[in-house]
Amino acid sequence: MSDNQSPNSSSKYSRATFDEVMVPNYNPASIIPERGEGSKVWDQNGKDYIDFAGGIAVTALGHNHPGMLKALKEQSEKIWHLSNVFTNKPALELAQKLTDATFADKVFFCNSGGEANEAAFKLVRKYANDNYPDQGKSEIVAFKQAFHGRTLFTVCVGGQPKYTHGYEPLPQGISHGEFNNIEALEGLINDKTCAVVMEPVQGEGGIIPADPEFAKAVRELCDKHNALLVFDEVQTGVGRTGHLYAYQGLGVTPDILTTAKAMGGGFPIGAMLTTTKISKSMGVGTHGSTYGGNPLACAISNVVIDEINTPEMLNGVKEKSAKIKARLESIGEKYDVFETVRGEGLLIGAVCNEKWQGKAREFLVSGWEHGVMCLVAGLSVVRFAPALNITNEEIDLGLDRFEKAVAAIA
Ligand SMILES: *Cc1c(COP(=O)(O)O)cnc(C)c1O
Repeated sequence: MSDNQSPNSSSKYSRATFDEVMVPNYNPASIIPERGEGSKVWDQNGKDYIDFAGGIAVTALGHNHPGMLKALKEQSEKIWHLSNVFTNKPALELAQKLTDATFADKVFFCNSGGEANEAAFKLVRKYANDNYPDQGKSEIVAFKQAFHGRTLFTVCVGGQPKYTHGYEPLPQGISHGEFNNIEALEGLINDKTCAVVMEPVQGEGGIIPADPEFAKAVRELCDKHNALLVFDEVQTGVGRTGHLYAYQGLGVTPDILTTAKAMGGGFPIGAMLTTTKISKSMGVGTHGSTYGGNPLACAISNVVIDEINTPEMLNGVKEKSAKIKARLESIGEKYDVFETVRGEGLLIGAVCNEKWQGKAREFLVSGWEHGVMCLVAGLSVVRFAPALNITNEEIDLGLDRFEKAVAAIA
């Protein structure tokens, strides 16, 4: 470690450097985190934070996890990258694991959630073309406030017009229903529909869980119109809701599932899961990714899936969820800031009351000052997506700090 990297010395890089050298599409915090251990993170000045943000539901085993580190080291000394001209053992092992643990028979690997969804949205069109040729069966039905990524196709399937604005001309054949409204969906779906796309819990849209009756109705309507059901589990997947995948808790099985974020615990990886029958529409040469299935990423993801897909870890998520929700509810009442606390497992949203509408970010910023990292989901929901192995001590300390952060502004 050279002098200018030691925790207490001033670095030549600061938040101001960001404005000089980065495209201005983000507005990061003034603090610059430098290292982490479990659910604790230290910034450039050595100040510590309890991490309830988890890198946006990504670092599901916390920071500096010994098992992940071991896999990274071991694989890094064998081989990092091959391309899909070859297959490799970590990728095969991971695909076997995912198909054993889910409805799926086949896996396509990529590097992010947006790419997993791009693959899924291309596949549903291709499948309809292959199986119902010349019937114009190409319409995708999705939902308002949904978030599916930032590629041009995925922002269009997403239901937030602010993310497509200015990027016209846009991909066509996409409509948006009201989430959790069966009648609205009945009005949109028909025999031209090739797929319905939904998140089991809308994440970026405000931590809004799908009603189980709604999810069941979506499945039935898809079957009636020979449309595929795509679950975007990029945020809800890999244990986040207390199930390996949220569909397992909902009791509704999709035809295609996308996963990323927590899947690599911080190392970029994503996947699209589907059945053998549907996978046939993605034949040799029809789609691809240079890095997809990269041995280094897959070696790490194997550890993440092994560690998370255990009854202890998944039950722990449910217990910690109840603990955090109860405390947030009491904070919300005591300071009169939140109208409700919702979500599944360790994907929790504290919804600002009337008085605090549009001001969720103020809690985030005050949190940084008081040594706790959380997130927002839209303008009026404070979001918590900590590591699934966060300890009770870390939870208590983080919530004590969060309470101080709320008290300071309320
Ligand atoms: C984060 C997210 C994505 C996009 O994932 P990237 O890895 O940023 O491309 C897609 N869908 C959902 C539900 C997400 O939460």
